[in-house]
Amino acid sequence: MAKIIDGKAIAKEIHGEIANEVRSLSEKYGKVPGLAVVIVGMRKDSQSYVRMKRKACAEVGIKSLDLDLPEDVSEAEVIATVHELNANPDVHGSSPSLYSPLDLASLAKHINEENVLSEISIEKDVDGFHPLNIGKLAMKGREPLFMPCTPKGCLELLSRSGISTKGKRAVVVGRSNIVGLPVALLLQKADATVTIVHSRTPDPEKIICEADIVIAAAGQAMMIKGDWLKPGAVVIDVGTNSVDDPSRKTGYRLVGDVDFEEASKVAGWLTPVPGGVGPMTVAMLLKNTLDGAKRKIIQ
Ligand code: NAP
Repeated sequence: MAKIIDGKAIAKEIHGEIANEVRSLSEKYGKVPGLAVVIVGMRKDSQSYVRMKRKACAEVGIKSLDLDLPEDVSEAEVIATVHELNANPDVHGSSPSLYSPLDLASLAKHINEENVLSEISIEKDVDGFHPLNIGKLAMKGREPLFMPCTPKGCLELLSRSGISTKGKRAVVVGRSNIVGLPVALLLQKADATVTIVHSRTPDPEKIICEADIVIAAAGQAMMIKGDWLKPGAVVIDVGTNSVDDPSRKTGYRLVGDVDFEEASKVAGWLTPVPGGVGPMTVAMLLKNTLDGAKRKIIQ
């Protein structure tokens, strides 16, 4: 049976480490890290993600500046807000939730995500989505100021579980800007040999079955079956898909891109959904904010 990688427990450990560092920054320099958590519109799934970010900030002592912009806010107004946050010395990171974490559909369709993200100062780009930060991630010998939170969380789960990536065959399922592509770049930086599988890849199981490490980020409920995996493989399931479940009060439950039941009989290590990668995304956002603040506060 696969060992379960408990993302909730690892994220809690990281929250504790961040809280200690925030306390010591405050004691030594009289300053605490600040994170602007911006939400556009009122979609429930996005609101709950934003609530999670704000609650996590409070837990570790990071000051969150909460900005709730109306659904019909113009792109120019969102960009003006970003510029204000860029100029605010108490803000060390800006995290605008322009999309929902569940289906990533654009929340406010009249706002061009790229136009907004490109305006965030790269020194405050704690989500790590700025093209300059992604570009540096892709280049040999360059270091981005921030790495995207979910991909960074995947690597952190591996390293804190004592799993080396060096020389390993890794297969990433998905090539999105926020998960698939950056996690592939991070794995490559960490000396894995990386293959990306996407929706146009024929017979993905023939590639996935060769992987020592599988990162599943396709957004396809339980697509990866037990017999697609190499025995003993490490499987990190980023997928968060809601499927109908009449037995639940909500009428749905969350499942990953991996068939957990089947995979747990073949894999060596496996993350659950929920409770795997999800908590790490927020933990890495806090860590990026702390790192951004340290660069500014400790001169
Ligand atoms: P996305 O933008 O929809 O990208 C999905 C990627 O998967 C695309 O590259 C797509 O290929 C590929 N794909 C789709 N169907 C496939 C198939 N049958 N076989 C192989 N590849 C396939 O989604 P995302 O933003 O990367 O998110 C992926 C999943 O992770 C979602 O379930 C999302 O909810 C979840 N997520 C979780 C967290 C977290 O914190 N836990 C954070 C972010 C995302 P093409 O490029 O060819 O279209």
